[in-house]
Amino acid sequence: MSYAKKRYLNFFAITVFTLVLPFITINGNHMLLLSFDRMEFHFVGFAFEMQELYIMPFLLMILFIGIFATTAIGGRVWCGWACPQTIFRVIYRDLIEGKIFNLRRVKNKQKKVDYTKTENKIKKVFSITLFGMLCLIIATNFMWYFVPPEDFFRYMKEPDEHVFMVMFIVTVALFLVYDIVFTKEHFCTYVCPYSRIQSVLYDDNTIQAIYDTNRGGNIYENGEKTIFKAKQLQEHEECTACEACVKICPTGIDIRKGLQVECINCLECVDACTDVMGKLGKKTLVHWGSTNEVLKDKKTEFFSMRNIMYYVAIAICFVLLVVSASKKEYFLLNVNKTTKLYDIKQNNHVTNNYLLTIQNRDKKAYTFDIKIVDNENFKIKRFKPFKLNADRRVKKVLILETKKRLFLSDKKDTPLEVKIIMFAKENPKEVFKEQTLSFIYPRNDSFK
Ligand code: SF4
Ligand code: SF4
Repeated sequence: MSYAKKRYLNFFAITVFTLVLPFITINGNHMLLLSFDRMEFHFVGFAFEMQELYIMPFLLMILFIGIFATTAIGGRVWCGWACPQTIFRVIYRDLIEGKIFNLRRVKNKQKKVDYTKTENKIKKVFSITLFGMLCLIIATNFMWYFVPPEDFFRYMKEPDEHVFMVMFIVTVALFLVYDIVFTKEHFCTYVCPYSRIQSVLYDDNTIQAIYDTNRGGNIYENGEKTIFKAKQLQEHEECTACEACVKICPTGIDIRKGLQVECINCLECVDACTDVMGKLGKKTLVHWGSTNEVLKDKKTEFFSMRNIMYYVAIAICFVLLVVSASKKEYFLLNVNKTTKLYDIKQNNHVTNNYLLTIQNRDKKAYTFDIKIVDNENFKIKRFKPFKLNADRRVKKVLILETKKRLFLSDKKDTPLEVKIIMFAKENPKEVFKEQTLSFIYPRNDSFK
């Protein structure tokens, strides 16, 4: 099977996955959602409040190390096999303009379309219109990662109430049309920063589209094409100079020149040369392989020291991500002291007041209670267990009291630590939080 067919299958799988993913929920949480409406981030079925995005650093580390590792090992595999820009360009350029409207030849992307012909102008308009409609679907799909489908379809019943959302979709769609129809592969070569970092990450084990100079012969010397000049290929050098690999290249480069930042690893040149050389009963001169494999007759080392370090770094980040994501926060507890530091009651009993904010983050109701941990000097003077429904927040007052005369300082009030545990009566072993409160005990001369 040609690389083109494999890539198209991959594109199809990615498209279906991206369309379906927003509809998949686990316990009511999405697989990937950044909701500014709800101030929540959902990831693989876990919901995180914006204020507890402690998984974010690990996700970003995995993303960046992953990009470096993928590029070092597989070259621009992302660009050729999964990048939305490439997928949309293939849909527009090869499917819509090429196959549906027969405006251009898929195998010769260098040939300019003759727009002096009215027929071609009309075809172009139809191509853009069809792609524009697709872009609206793509932009809507993109929106579902910020506004989940269940909210989106509800909002769309009253579009005039959600003008911003509609405008956002239309703007994204227009940008896509501009980018894919008019910016084309210039986006990959001039705008995308990824192409700039690729060359520093490559080594002889990096997989890339590579021309076999040993078999094909050197077409370039010092960046100058020599084949049609003084130097002619030797008899044993196999390149037929048919230029099929150049004509088909969407970025318009000649892979025989070696690694170039414009190469997006689409492998169309490999397919083109496979066809040409296949007719001569030979193997392709352009391969998807490493320099070691294609030019030096050595095996590609996937476990070089550098790659192992990448694997280890990603594994560590992944473990940390799983550990932090699995530390489920059933509820949030925030404790503030009231402005009055303490009260001295009858019999020299001292009290401190606290304001608690409790937010139930689980999908079920809990009855919350509080106890003091290992401290007989203090007791809870005021706090009644209460029931809190799923996703609700409440404020409660807690009053701690000590009846003991502690005789601490004559000079200043003394802060003492009191450890409390707030727990859900239904599941005290899992749904609990420990917090250390500061209890201010008055200086001795404050007592009568
Ligand atoms: S040289 Fe051109 S055709 Fe070949 S992989 Fe790179 S971008 Fe694709
Ligand atoms: S397609 Fe193959 S034979 Fe033809 S020019 Fe390219 S490398 Fe040479």
